[in-house]
Amino acid sequence: MTASYFRPSVDAMTGYTPGEQPKPGTKIIKLNTNENPYPPSPQAMEVLRTIDSEWLRRYPHPFADDFRHSVSKVFDVPYDWVMVGNGSDEILNVVVRACTEGERKIVYPTPTYVLYKTLAEIQPTEVVEIPYNENFDLPIVELVRAKGAVTFIASPNSPSGHLVAIDDLRKLASELAGVLLIDEAYGDFAEESAFPLVREFDNVMILRTLSKGYGLAGLRLGFAIANPALLSGLFKVKDSYNIDAIANAVGTAAMLDQDYKNQCVNKVKASRSKLAAGLTKLGFKVWPSQANFLLVQPQIDAESLYLGLKAQGILVRYFKQPGLADKLRITVGTDEQNDLLITALSSLLVEMK
Ligand SMILES: *Cc1c(COP(=O)(O)O)cnc(C)c1O
Repeated sequence: MTASYFRPSVDAMTGYTPGEQPKPGTKIIKLNTNENPYPPSPQAMEVLRTIDSEWLRRYPHPFADDFRHSVSKVFDVPYDWVMVGNGSDEILNVVVRACTEGERKIVYPTPTYVLYKTLAEIQPTEVVEIPYNENFDLPIVELVRAKGAVTFIASPNSPSGHLVAIDDLRKLASELAGVLLIDEAYGDFAEESAFPLVREFDNVMILRTLSKGYGLAGLRLGFAIANPALLSGLFKVKDSYNIDAIANAVGTAAMLDQDYKNQCVNKVKASRSKLAAGLTKLGFKVWPSQANFLLVQPQIDAESLYLGLKAQGILVRYFKQPGLADKLRITVGTDEQNDLLITALSSLLVEMK
């Protein structure tokens, strides 16, 4: 047997499995990876149409300062409190590389975003997973006791959709010695943000993305807000030119067009209520959601239902994992898409009985 080309930690891991991404134009209703069903801001698309070739000939700004200034304006923080990433996934990666190693652990409650574990396996670094109880109460005592170099809390969480109360996060932040990273990828759809905590605590970082609320998952743009001392180590670790010139320009226009983003978000929230009611009527258990998706539990086998929908060209997310194997995560689409989903489910429920 030849020696492996890879480090033992890489050989041992399976790698993150992204949701299926059919080719654009494929006739499919895609409710599996929580994209926004509405297109990006028209102002952002106008910027894209007028990109100057000179911007592409030259290297981009190393810190995407135009975009940082737009975040600074919208969130009312100094621009040096903002770090921009090639998707918020890149920032998660940089945080893991900068802060953790071996016994400098990663801690998070489960179930949550699976990438946290993947990043820990690559590093490699020790992981402590603390299960949520049935009501998704934040296990503060256990999280503090685990002594993470970094503690990840997704809020709203995926795949549950629940929001973690800011008072719980405040308590956690005050008792943790390490970094508390609050992943608000779905924050645009929630009633409350933990953003005030970045001013109250040196160790708190908020993570946001343009992939969900702004309809720009393909652009790859996310950002962290934290005090400059907490960002300083991350800037050393990131790629020198992590944000391309197009993302910087298009993302800036999208960030400054809050009205358009809020309109899309409000439509999604209205559709979320209607979809939840429709699914409840079909006999599904539906968890309350502050995100742009619903976690649901059908009365029949979830995997068969997932496959039945897929055969009809409707993709939802199925996680073959303990605690989730009897559930589906369904992205909120347009009302039209959601109606087609409900119709397909109604007939599948009859067929599969
Ligand atoms: C979608 C998602 C992200 C990643 O967003 P990108 O900015 O597209 O990399 C991060 N965290 C959670 C919890 C997500 O659901």
